[in-house]
Amino acid sequence: MGVGIALQITGIVQGVGFRPHVFRLAHELGLGGSIRNDAEGVFIRLKGSQYKLDAFIASLRASPPPLARIDAFEILADDGLDLDENHFVIEQSKAGGDAQVLVSPDKSMCAECLKDIQTPADRHYLYPFTNCTNCGPRYTLINALPYDRKHTSMAHFAMCPECEAEYKSPLDRRYHAQPVSCPRCGPGLRLTRPDGSLISSDNLECLTECARLIKDGAIFAIKGLGGFHLVCDATNEAAVNRLRVRKQRPAKPLAVMVKDVDMAKSLALGSEEEWQLLESRERPIVVLKKSKALIEASSHNDSSHNSPQHYPGSKRTLAADAVAPGIDRIGLFLPYTPLHALLLDKIDRPIVATSANRSGEPIIIDITDITAKLSTVVDYILDHNRPIVSGCDDSVVQYCAGQLQVLRMARGYAPMALHVQHALPKQLMAVGPQQKNTLGFGLGHNLFLSPHIGDLFSIEAEDYFVRTLQSFKRLYDVSPTRVIADSHPDYAPSRFARDYVARDYVDSADTLEAHETATGVQARELITVQHHFAHVLSVMAVNNTTGPVLGFSFDGTGLGDDGSLWGGEVMLCTATDYKRLGGLMPFALPGGDKASHEPWRLVISLLHDRVSAETLSSLGCLSHLSPAALGNHIKVAARSHVLKSSSMGRLFDAVAALLGLCNHIQFEGQAGMLLEAAAARANANSVNPNEAHTNTFSTSTVSTSTVSTNTASTIADSTARAHANKDQVTQRLFAALLSSEADACLENGLENGLENGLENGLESGVEIDLDTDLETGVSKNLMHWNGAALMNAILHELMELPPGNTDAAEFASARDILAAAFIDTIALAIADTAKRFPELPIVLTGGVFQSRTLANVSYEKLINAGHTVLPWGEVPVNDGGIALGQLWYGAHIFV
Ligand SMILES: [Zn+2]
Ligand SMILES: [Zn+2]
Repeated sequence: MGVGIALQITGIVQGVGFRPHVFRLAHELGLGGSIRNDAEGVFIRLKGSQYKLDAFIASLRASPPPLARIDAFEILADDGLDLDENHFVIEQSKAGGDAQVLVSPDKSMCAECLKDIQTPADRHYLYPFTNCTNCGPRYTLINALPYDRKHTSMAHFAMCPECEAEYKSPLDRRYHAQPVSCPRCGPGLRLTRPDGSLISSDNLECLTECARLIKDGAIFAIKGLGGFHLVCDATNEAAVNRLRVRKQRPAKPLAVMVKDVDMAKSLALGSEEEWQLLESRERPIVVLKKSKALIEASSHNDSSHNSPQHYPGSKRTLAADAVAPGIDRIGLFLPYTPLHALLLDKIDRPIVATSANRSGEPIIIDITDITAKLSTVVDYILDHNRPIVSGCDDSVVQYCAGQLQVLRMARGYAPMALHVQHALPKQLMAVGPQQKNTLGFGLGHNLFLSPHIGDLFSIEAEDYFVRTLQSFKRLYDVSPTRVIADSHPDYAPSRFARDYVARDYVDSADTLEAHETATGVQARELITVQHHFAHVLSVMAVNNTTGPVLGFSFDGTGLGDDGSLWGGEVMLCTATDYKRLGGLMPFALPGGDKASHEPWRLVISLLHDRVSAETLSSLGCLSHLSPAALGNHIKVAARSHVLKSSSMGRLFDAVAALLGLCNHIQFEGQAGMLLEAAAARANANSVNPNEAHTNTFSTSTVSTSTVSTNTASTIADSTARAHANKDQVTQRLFAALLSSEADACLENGLENGLENGLENGLESGVEIDLDTDLETGVSKNLMHWNGAALMNAILHELMELPPGNTDAAEFASARDILAAAFIDTIALAIADTAKRFPELPIVLTGGVFQSRTLANVSYEKLINAGHTVLPWGEVPVNDGGIALGQLWYGAHIFV
């Protein structure tokens, strides 16, 4: 006689093959009962002998289906009187209750489906929309929950008998795979001209023609999973340049899709971890180091003079300089749908595949927008008739500081759900920042983060923001009453948030409670969070900590709580409060927004009161200014009311301009990338002398030739010299960066104050009351990093190069060493600050940490000094993480 139990399981458990998995497990063990999806997740009832029940639970916990994530596993009493011990059934879904169901992100094609489309005997042979329970679209085609076919954009495709049989068989891999289809019953391709007029609607003909035309140099818009890509042959320099001209995108790097890892390895250098990321289930765009030959090709305008990089199966070469000009990185990704796999198979070359949109607008998901907006950009369109409900860009990631770093969180990673221990009493909505916007929602035990929405500088982008917000509210059936926004009042999401709460707004907390009690309706309330605090909070959320932590929050600019623009902040943070310990000293941003596109303006700002106008006029980055114009710019920079900022991002821009690397910024982050490329060159030429000597040793043991040994040690000597040189330069720059701190400490008696603060509890790291301990113990202005003095020191290093030296190579090498030394200096400043708070976990966050060199060097110094550095998880360090930080604040304020 069997016993009964019930299991309530929550997490990502719908649309991931959970029910058939449980069916098969119950089948194998000989248990009876039932399973159904409900609004909480899945509900399982079981009847059988105790040891079988134990085996079932152990197995399900230890190995759930590959795409599932179990957040809570509750075992409930169930008399099981109505259950048949020999019969297990899958029941129909039930709607209702508080939605706790998580929408799974879209998943890349699985190995079995790839095999199906490559097997001539399989009925999915060469079918571009093949998928199964373990792969395929999810978020991008769901209209409503629960996740059933009738709630997806596949609703209007009637299944053929064979598909239906697989869909209904619990033992089949396609059991309840909602988008399941085949050539007989599913979506199909359409090849059209830019005006939408039809060329072919035969799947195979569309694929063959598309591949042929791309190889001939055509530019395509191709509809994929979460939107359209603009595509062309990445080995055809003329085609890539034509795409750039038509798209008016002169310099921003373009992502390249490669057929397989072998093709990727012919274009880029990577570690084992990086190749694993490339092949991971999420199939993101991975930013990798260009192969040596590609870097050499990129550093010359005419790549034909350089040793070309061939890849298997072709004698053609990547148009490296057109794809990613001037930088040493390239973004590569693998095919992630059957459509992409079939195309890449036929093209057999790397292709440019960049999101199709008009500059500043969201990714296009429907052919009508391609014909309306991009008909002059593309030569052909490869469309299909499976509608995309919600757009979703490709994710972009890199590997640094010993971990994954997500630069754009979208397909594969988002929507993201973080489980929280205590249920949230109110429904929360975080509207995110102005740039790289994402949205966050909090309800029950979950914090949700939307995929990348983007920069909100156009009507279309703001519409996309509102549409995404509405679709999340609909999907999760949520109507949040507690809204969290950035403290910048002019950000589009902040304006939206004010309008949202104004519809039912009560201004004080007391009247709010009274209002709610009286009307039975929850009023809406808005709070704001400082931008750089939110950056730190997002990492705290990922690590499920309420602090205190020591945060280094470095980015472009965000509104500070004193009304000025911040961006290079050192902050002590808990989940509900922060203290700004200091950071970069503010400097003028002459010309306001113009300064972020023309970094030479920052050079004037930082140097004008330290060096003469004559010296300034001798700088390459200011050579375009007449003496009169330079004089005017100096006057503007010296004005007392000019906009000021402590932005670390702008300091990076200024250093890049001073070093002659970048005088006009064409896309965000460009100066940082060029600095990093220069630093990478310097670091490659100045490896650690200990490593260099080890190399010498191994070379000499392999070779019996004394000549070779001598050569090797000469090289080792010169690299050791270069390394020592870089370290000396770094020490001088670091002294300059801290030059004002000694004065400030003396003035404020800080040395004593700091000691007291540490004794009063800071060192113990527990029970820190930010208000009292910090006010009494540590001055609010603990760190004074002097960016102007640092710039001046760099200028002096440049001017001390041998006079009359016209050797461009030598100048370039000195400049590269300065770039590396500058980044090392910032890392040193971080480590030096962290030393004062040995007990506190460290958070490195903000867009500036997308510099791999800065992230790597800072991380290494901190870890070597015994600090704990909190990992980023899958949440971006740039503004893509702000909404999660806002949610984390809301989750601890609205209790
Ligand atoms: Zn599959
Ligand atoms: Zn079918």
